[in-house]
Amino acid sequence: CGIVGYVGPQSALDVVTAGLKRLEYRGYDSAGVAVQADGGLATAKRAGKLVNLEKELSERPLPAGSTGIGHTRWATHGGPTDANAHPHLDNAGRVAVVHNGIIENFAALREELTERGHALASETDTEVVAHLLAEEYSACADLAEAMRLVCRRLEGAFTLVAVHADEPDVVVGARRNSPLVVGVGEGESFLASDVAAFITHTREAIELGQDQVVELRRDTVTVTDFDGAPADVREYHVDWDA
Ligand code: GLU
Repeated sequence: CGIVGYVGPQSALDVVTAGLKRLEYRGYDSAGVAVQADGGLATAKRAGKLVNLEKELSERPLPAGSTGIGHTRWATHGGPTDANAHPHLDNAGRVAVVHNGIIENFAALREELTERGHALASETDTEVVAHLLAEEYSACADLAEAMRLVCRRLEGAFTLVAVHADEPDVVVGARRNSPLVVGVGEGESFLASDVAAFITHTREAIELGQDQVVELRRDTVTVTDFDGAPADVREYHVDWDA
């Protein structure tokens, strides 16, 4: 339902959880975060209100990291449980993904992944994306390219945001029939389903177009279509009051 991503000098966990709070008004049934830390990914997710996630984070603090993603879920496939909350990871725990929308062809993809030996840990339509990204990444070692290849296989409506443990300081996003906005800061970059999530940090924004993938680094924002062709981006200033 709500998505936030961050890369920059601040604590990614702080920026992401504050962003999720600003998206709370949209309604949700679970929440979760993932940060890059110590060469891997650290995640926390809980069914229920953000306070449940905050409680979990205070009891089991995540290591500090400069890159992270977060999600508030409105369940469509699989009940509102801790296991079904996002982020979803591949079996090696190297890639984490959050998703808004519905992946219509998830059942066929799930079957295919199971046949190839993947063990799926949730009942969501989303989880297939984590496993597919892991497979594509192991072949191309480029998260944005892996995202493009995966998106071409997905049907339905999706905003996807992912991080990979082997690609520090990179957040990748994609969208089809579901919104995704980039926030361009000074040496830091944001991604969100709604500018409200990052408006306290920057008012320079880029709205992603239909069927586009964005690769976010501290100082660069690269947008392509699903085939990898560079896309024109139009930066705009958000001038409404937060
Ligand atoms: N379809 C996904 C799920 O049920 C995402 C729902 C959402 O947009 O929050 O987990």
